[in-house]
Amino acid sequence: MLAREAALADRLRDVGARDSLTGLASLDRLRGFLDTGFDGAGGGVLLLLDIERFHDVNEMLGHDAGDQILVEVAERLAGAPAPGSLIARVAADQFAVAVPGAVGSEIGRLNAMAVKGRVEGSIRFADLNADVRVAMGIARSPDHGSGAADLLRRAELAMTTAAGTASGIAEWEPGDERDGARRLQVLTGLREALGDGSLRLAYQPKVSLTTGEVAGFEALVRWTHPTLGELAPDEFVPLAEATGLISTLTTTVLRRALVACRSWHDAGKPVGVAVNLSARSLDSPALVGQVGALLAASNLEPRWLTLEITESSVLAHRTRSVEVLGQFRNLGVRLAIDDFGTGYSSLHQLRGLPVQEVKIDQTFVTSVHELPQDRAVVHAIVELCRSLGLETVAEGVELVEQADQLRSLGVADGQGFYFARPLDPEEALAWLVGQPVRSLATY
Ligand code: C2E
Ligand code: CA
Ligand code: CA
Repeated sequence: MLAREAALADRLRDVGARDSLTGLASLDRLRGFLDTGFDGAGGGVLLLLDIERFHDVNEMLGHDAGDQILVEVAERLAGAPAPGSLIARVAADQFAVAVPGAVGSEIGRLNAMAVKGRVEGSIRFADLNADVRVAMGIARSPDHGSGAADLLRRAELAMTTAAGTASGIAEWEPGDERDGARRLQVLTGLREALGDGSLRLAYQPKVSLTTGEVAGFEALVRWTHPTLGELAPDEFVPLAEATGLISTLTTTVLRRALVACRSWHDAGKPVGVAVNLSARSLDSPALVGQVGALLAASNLEPRWLTLEITESSVLAHRTRSVEVLGQFRNLGVRLAIDDFGTGYSSLHQLRGLPVQEVKIDQTFVTSVHELPQDRAVVHAIVELCRSLGLETVAEGVELVEQADQLRSLGVADGQGFYFARPLDPEEALAWLVGQPVRSLATY
């Protein structure tokens, strides 16, 4: 081959080996490196990074901003490479760092922490900051396997685990194979379910403990996985949060819940509906506008919608939460603190939160008719709420004895199997027809 042709062939090979946006190595090149480079060095560490909530950013700020973030992350990664390492972009918002040389678990983790520290932080756009966070999975050769296919798959499983943890870093473990396979199955199914509308909602009434009048229903998401069967929201909601599917899930639930609420009003039973927001939703600046638009489309006054946010998620990011809750308040929707009493906050932290309702967690309700300690907790919450002008709701009321005790302690409303289980939309409407509803004046 002529020298010129050889140079061209080299360049063409190089083009295929590089990602055109960031200039980093491509997935193909990484595969080759893992297969040969790690073997030559007696092993190595593969770090896989996923930019959290990248899809949200892309949707909200546009693809140019998304590209800018990818380029910035690539530069931060390439800024201080470990000797002999290869840095690659392996998927839209996923990167990899491969460091040759066998190391143990601790060094692997230290490596990961160093890379994470370099990559994370805010990126400034014209008039706003985007906060970059990554989830990282670690797979080490030879301990966790050898060869590109094994290492990549295991680092990816670890990365999925990492997305739900505080540190955002996880090393592959044998258990990930089983859990990871299920998680993947749940996630794939959920993505489809959000597309084809197969998620359902159940409605559980909130009832006055003194008059028996219905104040509204809480919407609870329900999903039957095609092969795994009925899954609890506690299994798939956290996964949706970790992968950015939560915003679609939340808007889907909101849309359905408002349609149901509209149908209750149309049936002459004006009651409200409550929707659960996850902690992550408070990070999404688009949500307030979406809620406003959905309310307008349903032709319901905002006060008929209550948004429930858990105590722990509000307090974890108090300043930010107060700001977002304030925006919801300006919209006119009601706000409730969910699972109150479990968040290890002191009661006075309720002060200054723009909320109207406090839902006392089931843990204090279960034995309220038997244990003086639980009665004391409920009493303290009721007193505090009274002084702050907040409504109280007891969750998980199953027995008449509990309802009686809660009423005498001054709790306003109750929710639980004692009144009704979560009901299908048709059941909810039929149930409602036979019940008195709270008079308008008390909203
Ligand atoms: P949560 O908001 O505390 O919802 C109340 C849970 O208690 C529901 O469980 C409900 O079925 C259950 N429950 C109601 N009454 C009783 C009772 O008398 N006894 C007992 N033992 N349990 C009762 P579910 O439906 O499994 O929901 C679990 C959690 O999942 C919810 O807790 C909520 O945090 C979350 N969740 C549900 N739907 C959504 C959603 O649309 N979005 C988000 N972000 N989270 C949701
Ligand atoms: Ca709730
Ligand atoms: Ca709750």
